[in-house]
Amino acid sequence: MSFEVTATDGSARAGVLHTAHGDVPTPAFMPVGTKASVKSLHPDEVREAGARILLGNTYHLHFRPGEDLIADLGGLHGFMGWDGPILTDSGGFQVFSLRDTLLAVDDEGVTFRSVYDGEAARFTPELAAAIQAKLGSDVAMCLDVCPPAGVPREELESAVRLTTLWATRQREAVRAPGQLVFGITQGGADPELRARSVEEITGLGFDGYALGGLSVGEPRPEMIDAVEWSAPMLPADRPRYFMGIGDPEGIVDVIARGIDMFDCVLPTRMGRTGTALTSHGRLNLRNARFARDSRPLDERCGCPACRRFSRAYIRHLINQQELLALRLLSLHNLWFLVDVTVGARTAIEAGRLADFILEMRQQTGTDA
Ligand SMILES: [Zn+2]
Repeated sequence: MSFEVTATDGSARAGVLHTAHGDVPTPAFMPVGTKASVKSLHPDEVREAGARILLGNTYHLHFRPGEDLIADLGGLHGFMGWDGPILTDSGGFQVFSLRDTLLAVDDEGVTFRSVYDGEAARFTPELAAAIQAKLGSDVAMCLDVCPPAGVPREELESAVRLTTLWATRQREAVRAPGQLVFGITQGGADPELRARSVEEITGLGFDGYALGGLSVGEPRPEMIDAVEWSAPMLPADRPRYFMGIGDPEGIVDVIARGIDMFDCVLPTRMGRTGTALTSHGRLNLRNARFARDSRPLDERCGCPACRRFSRAYIRHLINQQELLALRLLSLHNLWFLVDVTVGARTAIEAGRLADFILEMRQQTGTDA
């Protein structure tokens, strides 16, 4: 069995995912290494932050530099110098979220224009499996149809139908040795369609299951509500992956509702906008009030940025567009989100997740 639940607290679970490149304690935050790099960070820094599993993007790696080149250079682990677990998405999210590049969707696959050169390209479940097998990731995701929020019900229903059809084929397709494959459920926030998708996808039997088609533009309360009623539909003995959440409040909200894994570009994206995530909430370092602030970004944080540098110094680096600013903020934000996740895991083991979340909320918004 590739997954064990080791403790529960209400709907929340602590567990371990066993992969070909090591164990991942869950709940687990997965930093996104879109183009085989967590932007601006060395793999050793990502590991020191406490991250145990990375996410790589099939779409981007397929086009640049290509899965054959990566396979020839030792697979994604060897290529990017990360020997820990890697999950690759299927490329479906990129294809369907770049709506103006979408050309045609049919039962066989999806045709779209590559963002790299505008040439028409096609993904099928078989190709999504083959790319991920060559990348050699530890967890491969099924190709799914992921519509944005607010589409007509017929479109959601069609996404559910095609996602099941494609999952049926990808389940039988090639995979790397020891590679786990996760199915993705669709259906947006429609209870009937979600239930249908869960029944069809779990009926096929995968190593884990994702809630796809949420966090795609719907209001936050609707999304959290959908996680609350849909997570328990998924089998209790398999890992549950929520695709695309990574702010501290959102992380604990989905953990409390039974989610084990999640990914987000937030730590590095916030870094690029000069924003630090802290136990007091978000700090915009561009703000003049930090010009002479000698304190670290977060006094509770043990990251390399907080151990050594002041808010005033990092603010100066941001204003002068020094590359070190991006690195320090990305490092800090990653440490912070991993710390939130590890704290939630510890709280689940102690049966005090609700208190942990309450303390976190009370701290947020107090004066930094
Ligand atoms: Zn820090």
